[in-house]
Amino acid sequence: MSQILITGGTGFLASTLIDILLSRGHNIITTVRSAEKASQVQSIRPDIPPHRLIIKIVPDISLLSAFDSAVVNDPPLTGVIHTASPFHYSIDNIKKDMLDPAVNGTIGILSSVQKYAPTVKKVVITSSFAAMWNPHKPAGSKYSEKDWNNVSWEEAVSPANAQGQAGYRTSKALAEREAWGFMEREKPSFGLTVMNPSLIFGPVVPGSLRNLGEVNTSNTRIRDFVAGKFREKCPATGSAFWVDVRDAAMAHAVALEKGEVTDGKRYFLTAGAFCNREIVEVLGEEFPEVKGGLPEGGEALRDGEYPEGGPKYGFDNSASVGDLGLVYRGLRESVRDTVVTLRGVPE
Ligand code: NAP
Repeated sequence: MSQILITGGTGFLASTLIDILLSRGHNIITTVRSAEKASQVQSIRPDIPPHRLIIKIVPDISLLSAFDSAVVNDPPLTGVIHTASPFHYSIDNIKKDMLDPAVNGTIGILSSVQKYAPTVKKVVITSSFAAMWNPHKPAGSKYSEKDWNNVSWEEAVSPANAQGQAGYRTSKALAEREAWGFMEREKPSFGLTVMNPSLIFGPVVPGSLRNLGEVNTSNTRIRDFVAGKFREKCPATGSAFWVDVRDAAMAHAVALEKGEVTDGKRYFLTAGAFCNREIVEVLGEEFPEVKGGLPEGGEALRDGEYPEGGPKYGFDNSASVGDLGLVYRGLRESVRDTVVTLRGVPE
């Protein structure tokens, strides 16, 4: 029986991933930041016996030794999936709020496994399209796993980098670069696979959110459209590509299970391009009762349209389809299921 450690068990992606791995017969050990969060993760899965879902508390992933005791388990771990990392755009201190937890968390989990969990054969790290993003990429070209965000440490720590999406993007780029650097330098006995999901939408695990204020960063636009927040003006889309949480989580599970086949690889996870106007259309058609709160007409929707001529970039997701067998869901299903599950979350 495999024993898989998933860091950040309270997260949007990790919640779905835990359920997928449990349903595929794996036993889960997950880390959360507090005892309160530990009880929440356990209480929403009342049918899972405690030995199949063990929760460990790791309060501060910025410490390089944070995971030293979490990786020691009886029975011993066989695999690790590292999802925990800050994903938000309100940054006071770029180093403390973003870079330290993202980068040290990543190096920390790898070195803890190397030192204290010799039975682990595979580590999967959740990176991001943010680690592939290239501001100089020519319009009309295709994104694939070959793309890298080449931000430097100097740029990353500059206060200007705390604005908008930049801080988050650089935290993911540097964390992934450090992970591959670790593998190159240390040559540990486990293999590494990296997931590079684009913006993730999709249903939340029932009970995983105490209120709608806790919706994770990527799903907030759907929550806010439904609440009528953008009636006057649709916000700019801000991201080129998207993927459903169930597909992104399944990719992690399959990459882990495939063992050496996926060692040393990164996977761009995307169903394709999207724009906010398409989300508005789906919401209006699937939930006519919210139509009055949605932006309507050319001017109100303008910022949420594709650039003239359509999506700015193409994409190549063939590695994830070929190696991991992904059949990506469409935007309609993802947006619809997101709204249905968010309606079950208290305000
Ligand atoms: P999420 O719901 O905000 O979950 C993030 C998880 O990381 C939570 O468990 C959170 O714990 C934990 N975490 C954040 N900062 C931490 C810190 N300083 N110390 C300890 N734990 C911390 O985000 P998500 O959308 O599921 O994202 C999960 C992973 O996917 C992240 O690595 C993210 O970068 C990556 N990703 C997400 C998207 C997307 O669109 N959602 C796209 C590409 C990649 P708490 O619950 O205690 O805060």
